[in-house]
Amino acid sequence: MIINLLSDTVTKPTPGMLEAMFKAEVGDDVFNQDPTVNKLQSKVSNLFKKEAALFCPSGTMTNQLAIKAHTNPLDEMICDQTSHVYQYENGGYSFHSGISIRLIHGINGKLTPEDIRKAINPHAEWYPHSKLVVIENTCNKAGGGYYTLEEMAAISETCKKHHLKLHLDGARIFNALTEIDASTQEVGALFDSISICLSKGLGAPVGSLLIGNNDFIFQARRFRKVMGGAMRQSGYLAAAGIYALDHHIDRLTIDHQHAKKIEQALLSSPLIKEVLPVYTNIIVFKLQPEVTAKVFIQQLANQQISAIDIGENTIRFVLHLDITSAMVSTVCSVLKALR
Ligand SMILES: *Cc1c(COP(=O)(O)O)cnc(C)c1O
Repeated sequence: MIINLLSDTVTKPTPGMLEAMFKAEVGDDVFNQDPTVNKLQSKVSNLFKKEAALFCPSGTMTNQLAIKAHTNPLDEMICDQTSHVYQYENGGYSFHSGISIRLIHGINGKLTPEDIRKAINPHAEWYPHSKLVVIENTCNKAGGGYYTLEEMAAISETCKKHHLKLHLDGARIFNALTEIDASTQEVGALFDSISICLSKGLGAPVGSLLIGNNDFIFQARRFRKVMGGAMRQSGYLAAAGIYALDHHIDRLTIDHQHAKKIEQALLSSPLIKEVLPVYTNIIVFKLQPEVTAKVFIQQLANQQISAIDIGENTIRFVLHLDITSAMVSTVCSVLKALR
């Protein structure tokens, strides 16, 4: 059996989740007639105490819809250089929204109010109009670090003061909430929009939600349609999402414990130069210069462990609900034995 540490997207539905999907009541969601989709959307908007939510096929789509609904062509968005909206969405901000991007070289993928303030363009006819800030919590490529509630609140205040919209790419917000002292409602109050993924640590097969006020979600719904993302009997997928929210949030702490255990094994390996601090379910580490990522990944593959490189000599492991404690012990033994 493969120990798959590629991503937390690799999970398969549990028997309980499959049963919930099988039993789902469905209808045509383009006509707002799928009761399970409607239930998921109100569950999530209530959770974050916002007016509305929209179920979408992917987190790329929820992010892109948010950027589209918050901006006009010739506007500019501000985000960290490691962020998913910049690195992994094909430059969709320019393709769909016709806007430019201002990248910040933050620490651990995080922006500060000062970074944002300095990145705002002056008002002049030749500058793109600074309009939107996107932050990621947790920060994926930067190693799964998180913003605290206070840090998010300070950013929110700065954005309000400068009339910037603020979007949270919360693909892993529940991992962050496992570590920080904050409620979903408190987080909801700080952002104009939030994207959450059901298909990451929560273990659903498909789906993300965009959350915001009624006008914003109405716009996003139109853009979802034009991008071809309006689905019909998607209640089968929404049922998996409801199950994930009910059953898979509390257990995220186990993934974080597993990550800490693997971090210890990595720290004792002579092949590894540096392990970025482990905060949640993501481990990013750098190999010694003489060890290539390709060879290291192959060595792991020979022991049935799957992982990915995310930069030069840089490897990422991600923990999730299909990784058991026994598998974590195996990974630790393999890492300690590699030479
Ligand atoms: C996975 C991810 C997304 C969305 O990815 P999809 O594969 O399109 O669902 C967005 N932001 C972050 C930080 C992610 O890790």
